[in-house]
Amino acid sequence: MKKISILGSTGSIGTQTLEIVAQYPDQFQVVGLSCGSNISLFAQQIKDFRPEIVAIKDPKQIPSLEEAIAEIDYKPIILSAEQGVVEVARYGDAQTVVTGIVGCAGLLPTISAIEAGKDIALANKETLIAGGPVVLPLVEKHKTKLLPADSEHSAIFQCLQGVPSDGLRRIILTASGGSFRDLPVEKLKSVTVADALKHPNWSMGRKITIDSATLMNKGLEVIEAHYLFGVDYKHIDIVIHPQSIIHSLIELEDTSVLAQLGWPDMRLPLLYALSWPARIHTDWPSLDLVKSGDLTFREPDHNKYPCMNLAYAAGRAGGSMPAVLNAANEQAVALFLEEKIGFLEIPQLIEHCCDVFASQNTQTPSLEDILQADQWARKEVLNTKTKGKILV
Ligand code: NDP
Repeated sequence: MKKISILGSTGSIGTQTLEIVAQYPDQFQVVGLSCGSNISLFAQQIKDFRPEIVAIKDPKQIPSLEEAIAEIDYKPIILSAEQGVVEVARYGDAQTVVTGIVGCAGLLPTISAIEAGKDIALANKETLIAGGPVVLPLVEKHKTKLLPADSEHSAIFQCLQGVPSDGLRRIILTASGGSFRDLPVEKLKSVTVADALKHPNWSMGRKITIDSATLMNKGLEVIEAHYLFGVDYKHIDIVIHPQSIIHSLIELEDTSVLAQLGWPDMRLPLLYALSWPARIHTDWPSLDLVKSGDLTFREPDHNKYPCMNLAYAAGRAGGSMPAVLNAANEQAVALFLEEKIGFLEIPQLIEHCCDVFASQNTQTPSLEDILQADQWARKEVLNTKTKGKILV
């Protein structure tokens, strides 16, 4: 029986992780849960999974949560705000913490889980992208494991099992191409939030779905792959694969290429992050290569999707620059979701922040430096937008 805690249990990653727990009650037990503001779903999850500790974002919602779970025959510890999520992350004898929280809000809880000796089932890529220079030494120091739950990184991790440490030559990340993969570049100017949220293959949270449409998601994954697998940026490639059947590939030193395949279903990488190194039998539909049809590949269009190059450049700049890229992206995507900026303004605002920050970047940032860079970039996006400096 493995004990786990889930940060962001009401989101896409969180609910799918709980589906796995419900399906394998003799393998996994929930110790802690945290969510943002979806109190009704959270109350149901508490009833179903009986965690010892829970946290919500806004302390003002605690009475509503208490009322919603009043009929249950036990009372979990109820906390709130960022410190509450941190407490859930470090609590008790949970062995693994699933980071299904969205954005840089996952950084401090993830650090606290690592410091408490927990393994991390890492879905929240923003944590590693912003905090890589601080998170990786902590993982080393506390001898914990970062087990990738992102489908691409899980694919690479699965392919790497049994490969000697000097055997890896190149990583090839596959990308579905997002909502606008077949739309001509000149039409991107007028796309709406509703258009951008229609992902062709995956059902995910709103922020990552927009990141998929700009291909920033793939850019963030390039940085994530660099930190997770220690591969130089010049050996990490992106290929568009519209069917999302091959979840990523590795090339070995002798040119042999290994790939991991499966239906586009996040439960598989989540299950592997929880069960590694074991393989748990499931009754999920087997991949049928005849039904999945042709598997096709094409080069990504860097003019149509400038976010990819911005991410490579920020990754190569290192230090706090990926934190700036990530925070600027989070803020710009939030503005786009609120219909305050157009789709094409997202990369413009990010590029502006990275350009302005370049002269202040430090190569070996502390956690404080990273948090400051994150806050600076968010404000810079809002100030730039307000002053109307960016013109589409
Ligand atoms: P969702 O938006 O669906 O869920 C986010 C979760 O985080 C919700 O439980 C939400 O609570 C909670 N949350 C949001 N903001 C805060 C906050 N400030 N404090 C506390 N809790 C908060 O996102 P996804 O599940 O899609 O993505 C989660 C992470 O996993 C992201 O980093 C994403 O990049 C990554 N990922 C997701 C994949 C997917 O298939 N969805 C695939 C690969 C990676 P509430 O809803 O209650 O407000």
